[in-house]
Amino acid sequence: MVVIARTDPHATYDDVKEAHPDWIAVTADGKPRRHWASPELWVTCGLGPYNFEHMTEVHKEIMSLYRVDGIFINRWDGSGMCYCEHCQKHFKLATGLDLPRTNNPSDPARRQHIHLFGVSTKGRVEGPMQNSYLRLENDSATGKRHPVLAGLEDAPRIINGVWRVEVEPVERFYSTPLTLIPSYPDLPMEKVYPRVVKTDKTQVFLRELGRGRIVYFP
Ligand SMILES: [Zn+2]
Repeated sequence: MVVIARTDPHATYDDVKEAHPDWIAVTADGKPRRHWASPELWVTCGLGPYNFEHMTEVHKEIMSLYRVDGIFINRWDGSGMCYCEHCQKHFKLATGLDLPRTNNPSDPARRQHIHLFGVSTKGRVEGPMQNSYLRLENDSATGKRHPVLAGLEDAPRIINGVWRVEVEPVERFYSTPLTLIPSYPDLPMEKVYPRVVKTDKTQVFLRELGRGRIVYFP
């Protein structure tokens, strides 16, 4: 039997907000962000000390106290733009600019925000995809798999998400751990097979910036 624990760091309650106001996500007009579906909750910042420090300790505690095989972390990657003090400071340190307040890709700050991932987008999104998979690749130089794939040694491919953003790299990426197996029909049964076994479409972009590591799934 495999036991998976679940945590949900994407939102929290009044008592946490009172103790650590800087853990809460902030809207573009500077207000702490209420949850879109549960008004008693506050959305947390995915890129500040709440996720990086506090939740890391929570997960260490779970793994040390209980014999679970893994943890499913709901919405661990944040909830869109955040203008909290940590996000402002980190973006300024990385780019010298203030966080963008527009989605216009010609805005210099927005361009830098997208380029943090090392990719550019034409704004096309594919989905909902049926039966799309990610193929696990060996590094072409070493023949080994990237450490980001640790624990998946016996898997040739894993299931993909349902939506993907079409992106082009604008930086040089040295590793291509995951590539796209494009969507194919999920019915009728005799047509359920991948039409393309392998593509060169990278589906995870790994960068290091200073002491930071960026992992972007388009
Ligand atoms: Zn933030």
